[in-house]
Amino acid sequence: MRSISRIAALATALMALVPAAGLAQSTAEQEAKNRAANIAAYPDAARALFGQKTTPASMEARAIGSYARGCLAGAEALPVDGPSWQVMRLNRNRNWGHPVLIDYLEKLARDVPRITGWPGLLVGDMSQPRGGPMLTGHASHQIGLDADVWLTPMPKERVDRDQRENMSATNMARADWRDIDPNNWTPAHSRLIHTVAAEPRVERIFVNPALKVALCREAGADKGWLEKVRPMWGHNYHFHIRMVCPAGMASCHGQEPPNFGDGCGAELSGWVERQYQAIFHPPKPKPGPKPKPKPPMSLDALPPECRQVLVSR
Ligand SMILES: [Zn+2]
Repeated sequence: MRSISRIAALATALMALVPAAGLAQSTAEQEAKNRAANIAAYPDAARALFGQKTTPASMEARAIGSYARGCLAGAEALPVDGPSWQVMRLNRNRNWGHPVLIDYLEKLARDVPRITGWPGLLVGDMSQPRGGPMLTGHASHQIGLDADVWLTPMPKERVDRDQRENMSATNMARADWRDIDPNNWTPAHSRLIHTVAAEPRVERIFVNPALKVALCREAGADKGWLEKVRPMWGHNYHFHIRMVCPAGMASCHGQEPPNFGDGCGAELSGWVERQYQAIFHPPKPKPGPKPKPKPPMSLDALPPECRQVLVSR
């Protein structure tokens, strides 16, 4: 059932995701170069048009379209410093979201010291000021309802500007990628993810399969909440919070409520095994010329209202 090309696609996806999340060697300058190169390669692609907007569209706040195909009107910024959070990688200008996301992240951050004993949260990518596809990383995060939260606790001492760009997150996966690294993962990580899963406004959480292995084990008999916690490639340095579409917002196309059971059995073992194979036994590249990559999404692929979001003041 699993074709070679599917495994090859998975290997490519993993290669793309793992360094993007870790960013051990990446610098703001290198990231800016990558963005510029992607603009130059496809200047009319939706990612180039949305990726160059530095301010939100002054319109009523609305998530338009779906998580991986849409845009965001009337975005708010999560302040880069809060009493118990800090935003990382400020050069990316991705700390934007629909007010329901900002509201929830601020509430969660306030509760974090009590839940985890950590001083607070380090917040990674959310959306661009007008949402839409990004010049680098992430298929989703387009409608202001997705956020990546680091699994590294916020340190007691504030993280300075330079560290925010260059400090690397901690890989929570064990060297064989079949379970967590007990040197880094703590019961507080489980409690934090459980708390987020219990929030009715949260639709899905994405974590690396290796992390879900630990969550399933540590949950004991109470596994119901794990239905929302879905395995996903990458997400070993951070976990991904996805909000439900705001009530009554017809322009926002959410996902079906989760209906997978706790997903701790054969489904999870399948993910773990596919990840293991892709990392340690990647398929050999086919001889001959490389297949041309698909061109990036065009503006026509987004809901028509996204054109107004793009040109709005
Ligand atoms: Zn994510």
